[in-house]
Amino acid sequence: MAKLCLVMGDQLTRDLASLKNAQIGQDVIVMGELTEEATSVRHHKKKIALIFSAMRHFAKSLEDEGFTVLYQTYDEDNGASDFETLLRNASEQTNISDVIMTKASEYRPLAWQTSFHEKWQGDVRLLDDDRFLASADEFSTWAKGKKQLRMEFFYREMRRKYNVLIDDDKPIGGQWNYDSENRKPPKSGLNIPPKTNFIPDDITNDVLDIVDDYFGDHFGELRPFDMAVTRAQALSVLDAFVAQRLVNFGTYQDAMMQSEPFMFHAHIGAYLNIGLLTPLEVIRRVEHAYHADNAPLNAVEGFIRQILGWREYIRGIYWHFMPDYKQYNALDASRALPKFYWDGNTKMNCMKQSISQTITHAYAHHIQRLMVIGNFSLLAGLSPVEVNEWYLIVYSDAFEWVEMPNVSGMVLFADDGIVASKPYAAGGNYIDKMSNYCQNCAYNIKEKTGDNACPFHYLYWDFLWRHEEKLRSNPRLGMIYRTADKMADEKKQIIRQSAKKFLDSLN
Ligand SMILES: Cc1cc2nc3c(=O)[nH]c(=O)nc-3n(C[C@H](O)[C@H](O)[C@H](O)COP(=O)(O)OP(=O)(O)OC[C@H]3O[C@@H](n4cnc5c(N)ncnc54)[C@H](O)[C@@H]3O)c2cc1C
Ligand code: SF4
Repeated sequence: MAKLCLVMGDQLTRDLASLKNAQIGQDVIVMGELTEEATSVRHHKKKIALIFSAMRHFAKSLEDEGFTVLYQTYDEDNGASDFETLLRNASEQTNISDVIMTKASEYRPLAWQTSFHEKWQGDVRLLDDDRFLASADEFSTWAKGKKQLRMEFFYREMRRKYNVLIDDDKPIGGQWNYDSENRKPPKSGLNIPPKTNFIPDDITNDVLDIVDDYFGDHFGELRPFDMAVTRAQALSVLDAFVAQRLVNFGTYQDAMMQSEPFMFHAHIGAYLNIGLLTPLEVIRRVEHAYHADNAPLNAVEGFIRQILGWREYIRGIYWHFMPDYKQYNALDASRALPKFYWDGNTKMNCMKQSISQTITHAYAHHIQRLMVIGNFSLLAGLSPVEVNEWYLIVYSDAFEWVEMPNVSGMVLFADDGIVASKPYAAGGNYIDKMSNYCQNCAYNIKEKTGDNACPFHYLYWDFLWRHEEKLRSNPRLGMIYRTADKMADEKKQIIRQSAKKFLDSLN
């Protein structure tokens, strides 16, 4: 029987579960640029352009293979605005009523998919998304009965399951984790290869015009647009990473440098999340580089851990705790997002640099997201709802399943320690050590209080005191509280006054 195969904007993978067995000449592929999806939050312009252009290229590649593809281009006034209307229109047009879909990556569209069969006249098949390396059930089985869900132990199981960097059931090199060799500060004279860029073709240029017309007031800069929009292009980004950057990935994984937004990172998050690349192929490619003596173990293991460990673990957390996870606010944080999150206009150079490059590229690397913008959001007590929405809007790789546990769990400690064993709070010295931002900052990293002092210093202590009741008993924070206890009362008071003055100025 002929089927309608619905393909969502982050399912652009030829061997997607629901496309694997699709029959050319019989089944019809249904895709659409939908208002409901494009405006669920006010996504960065580059993110919308990436997804629409990648969808159009993917649809074309299926047509080139011989498939019939019903593709709805963006039409705010006359087109279907949601998946259900899109399928109804397709069914009327083709007289096909059976539908096959792969499970959506996020809670909201999956909730629609799971109830869809109740109102649909034909047969509906919903398949698991087997591009992920651990199913939601597998993660829940692993999590069951555990007091703490630490990524490191999950990661070891995944290494064994996929036999990655394993020799005779033991980790290659004798250790599971080589972080002690990684995460060095930047040094001058580093030769950072240029990012792999692409010139927009006619399809992308049409999409850029649509984004200009309909989403011109969304966050971020649209042009120049240089992202990969096909699988072949995404593979060349991966190739360039493995050939040029991987060797230094681990060593400078946490380093930040002014005017170097991309450092030695891979820049493939968005391509993985929309399906142009699959996690296992990336892992195998990087593992192969190690066996071919093209990259050291600390870089290869460190990188593989991000995908086989963190990416899968974060997704597991999302499905294990949703929908409750969305409401978590363990630290009762409620401050509104400062205006400079939207325009980068702040005297804090680290924030200015990280936000400005986000505006330009829809990208910031992990440590900028975690230890600069994230750390500030935590210390300033920003509302988890607002911070989550911001991260979901501004990054081209942002989808709720991966954004939310990173933000509510890793950054804001809003989940009360499910993801992180302690808040990732840090004063300015961490940023000074890992970047060259402080050299160009209007604030003085050496001053601890007062109008010229680096705000991260006093905000850090103020945060710890504000949440003392909850955090003092955390074994990983005991020593820090004991250090704070030794401070003279007068010093404490000055720190708190500096913090209050600064936080009041945010309003
Ligand atoms: C506050 C915060 C928000 C984040 N939001 C997102 C998001 O919306 N979407 C997203 O894909 N990643 C998110 N991350 C994780 C990470 O920052 C990005 O995956 C990474 O910066 C993407 O750039 P890259 O491809 O150059 O990554 P690299 O540093 O080169 O890492 C390679 C890959 O590892 C994976 N990875 C690394 N760290 C994580 C992680 N913590 N969680 C999940 N996957 C990881 C990604 O697929 C990434 O592409 C977030 C991290 C933080 C701290
Ligand atoms: S001095 Fe403080 S605010 Fe300025 S760049 Fe350094 S850490 Fe950031």
